[in-house]
Amino acid sequence: GLPPVPARIRADFPLLSRDIDGHRLVYLDSAATSLTPLPVVEEISRFYTEVAANIHRGKHVLSEQASDDFENVRMKVAQYTGFRSNEVVFTANTTASMNLVASGLPLDPDDLVLVPADGHHSAILPWRDRARVAWLPTDGHGVVDLDRYAELLSERPAVVVLSHCSNVSGAYAPVETMSRMAKEAGAVTVLDAAQSIGHRRPKHTTIDFLAFSAHKMLGPTGLGVLCGRYDQLARLTPPALGGGVVDWVDEQRHELRKLPHRFEAGTPHIAGVYGLGAAIDYLYRLGLDTVAEHDRALGRALVEQASTRPYARILGPTEGDRGAILSLAIDGLHSMKPVAQILSDSYGIMCRSGHMCAQPFVDRFTDDEILRASGYIYNDLDDVHAFFTALDEIVGALGARS
Ligand code: PMP
Repeated sequence: GLPPVPARIRADFPLLSRDIDGHRLVYLDSAATSLTPLPVVEEISRFYTEVAANIHRGKHVLSEQASDDFENVRMKVAQYTGFRSNEVVFTANTTASMNLVASGLPLDPDDLVLVPADGHHSAILPWRDRARVAWLPTDGHGVVDLDRYAELLSERPAVVVLSHCSNVSGAYAPVETMSRMAKEAGAVTVLDAAQSIGHRRPKHTTIDFLAFSAHKMLGPTGLGVLCGRYDQLARLTPPALGGGVVDWVDEQRHELRKLPHRFEAGTPHIAGVYGLGAAIDYLYRLGLDTVAEHDRALGRALVEQASTRPYARILGPTEGDRGAILSLAIDGLHSMKPVAQILSDSYGIMCRSGHMCAQPFVDRFTDDEILRASGYIYNDLDDVHAFFTALDEIVGALGARS
């Protein structure tokens, strides 16, 4: 079952008390970005009010404190992801992390790169100019076909990009098995964990690179992470040179700093890193098992409700390992923008319409736009029911079949 969100958690998210034109806010757009709890906001604020200095630059007290705090969060990220702290690079977001790997790896234009069929544009596009790109094979529901995957691996791809959880269908891929198979075939493995990271702690021993964003795990926007196994990370060409990435510079030459600093040119999002540390602490306080189970139960509730609506067609699998994301096509409704707008303006329910930055995947299912509801630890059955009650009314009013 899905327990109601406890009052103490609701209290950590002041936005949940925001009134939208007389309606209580129902936030079902966490796959776009999660809400930020007060302890995270306070930690970001603590950086600016108590520390404020740049890192790795000076020897004064404030700078040393900022550097220590920053590096402590790196250790926390390492612990959460199962990498070592010198294998953790701070970037701007998942997209930047993906581009760092794709542009930094030595690749030949004839090399084969496999990308996930349900992948986000940022898991696909960075590879297009670098190599031959092929899609991972899937069945009619978008679930990977492991037999055909094994066949493709015999073509010896240089890189296999996997998506842990689809931000459209909510389906979790069997990435542990898939990355082991890819490693056995000699490929470098890259995991897009943007959608899964705040719901399930990664535990993939054969993943070479792991990319995610802080803003989808209760942290701030503008901060991402790339984790890379040391020898794989060492192969990457740094995308940007400048301050912070060199040990010494003379008139002609320079020597790059050791890992991971050579990938962090310029002043980073220091306050954001403080916030990410607090976000990880918050997830541990909730209990990682509780968080993961909530995701599963919320996902089941969304699917259960959708299954009783004849007008709704669910994108992707309705069974198996999935999280709290539901994408729907609605018979007779080509554009979903008006639906999302009415849900927002007349009901206070925030969800998303469009192609969710995964257009090749969405286009395989429908010519129409889709509507996505996605939840997190601050959503419960009340929110699911509010969404479907409103949707029933809107679909009825817009004249679609119901
Ligand atoms: N991959 C997946 C699966 C995502 O869900 C997202 C964010 N919606 C991204 C990549 C991109 O993340 P960002 O916009 O933070 O770079």
